[in-house]
Amino acid sequence: MNNIKRVAWEIELKVKGNTLKYKQKLDEWQWLSKQEILRLQRTKLTALLQHAYVHVPYYRHLLLENGTVDESGNVHLDRFHHLPLLDKDTIKRHFDALKSDDLDSRSPFEESSGGSTGVPIKLLQDKQFMDWSSAVKLQDDEWTGMEMGCRRAYVWGSVRDTLVGRETVKTYLGRWMRNERWLNSFRMTQDRMKEFIHELNEFKPVQITAFAENLYDLAKFIEERGLYIYTPKAVLTSAGVLHPQMRETIQRVFKAPVFNRYGSREVGDIACECDHHHGLHLSAMTHYVEILNDKGQPVEPGEYGEIVITLLTNYTMPLIRYRIGDMGVMSDEECSCGRGMPLLKDVIGRTTDIFINKNGDRIDGRMFIRLLMSSAFINKFQVVQDRYDRIKIIVDPANKKLDHYQVYSEEIKRLVEDARTIMGGQCEVDFEFVDYIESTSSGKYRFTISMVH
Ligand SMILES: [Zn+2]
Repeated sequence: MNNIKRVAWEIELKVKGNTLKYKQKLDEWQWLSKQEILRLQRTKLTALLQHAYVHVPYYRHLLLENGTVDESGNVHLDRFHHLPLLDKDTIKRHFDALKSDDLDSRSPFEESSGGSTGVPIKLLQDKQFMDWSSAVKLQDDEWTGMEMGCRRAYVWGSVRDTLVGRETVKTYLGRWMRNERWLNSFRMTQDRMKEFIHELNEFKPVQITAFAENLYDLAKFIEERGLYIYTPKAVLTSAGVLHPQMRETIQRVFKAPVFNRYGSREVGDIACECDHHHGLHLSAMTHYVEILNDKGQPVEPGEYGEIVITLLTNYTMPLIRYRIGDMGVMSDEECSCGRGMPLLKDVIGRTTDIFINKNGDRIDGRMFIRLLMSSAFINKFQVVQDRYDRIKIIVDPANKKLDHYQVYSEEIKRLVEDARTIMGGQCEVDFEFVDYIESTSSGKYRFTISMVH
């Protein structure tokens, strides 16, 4: 039966577009040397800039003014890093000018950013982008050891993706063909988690693809209650940051290797781990990735900075030097698997995970995660900064029945003191217990949010 499904899926992909053709190219390219991959990437970047210069009003002027493209249409990549960055606000303001004048021939469609911070923005994407994105996803799956058509369970928190209440016959047919089971984790109640465990044990997926935070919650739930869970071949986490403690817990409970994937709705999947787990291989043929400091200068490998993406496949509305809103660290090491694609060492969160104190010092929000994740009485938490001199620690306790302020008064006092020290001293720290902490509208969970940017 699985073979029939795989064949049906392959036929559908062949009829619909170039996904399998692109996948074949990715298969070949992955084993090229890093130099050769970077050379090919420059060719793709040049082609995108030429297209933007000829067909996209917003860029025509900008590229010329900046010198990245000259009057004769020649591209000068040495000028590329001086192009202004593109942010969500600019996309909103220049939406029409960012459209390619030949977009009718590109099967465009509307998409919006995930909106894990702020209001989602509208974008145009096209068929070429979709086919490349699907090809990258197939390659990522293969790295985790999953073949096309194997059983896959999604523990997925985005209401839009899970199509709750809007499923059509086509949706169900597609899921059947791809052998998928969708578990909507937008709100993970205890009853929902019990249902998930039952479904996973019954469905026996080869791979679980999940929102990192949701699967971490599920893993904790299983472990605390000593429940049985089926062991898949691999777990692929996406959407949200996979902190080391989350990875360890998921791996321990599901007894399967965890592969971290980094992507977004606006630009597709950007990077994914291979089975050597030395970092995330950048999808260099579809994305050009830069990591910059707060002055817009590239940082050294090993240093963290803001991730800026140029999407090489979406000609309908080119995103060039796009501020995706995440922070990351590049690696200059080569992966022992032999693949030449450069490595992203880590994605460490949103740019708004950086806290700023009264003196203007920038504080890595992960310090709070390390502080609070090891407290046994805390089930979930969120640290919110609303002023330079005030943060709030919101806690969903593990045991809801206790008088927490009394039982844990000493520990709370210590956590508050440590949090204040992290903020550099003069800072008000409020501590509050709640019954439930909401995810963002995209379903992603935020451990830390600074609103003072
Ligand atoms: Zn590798």
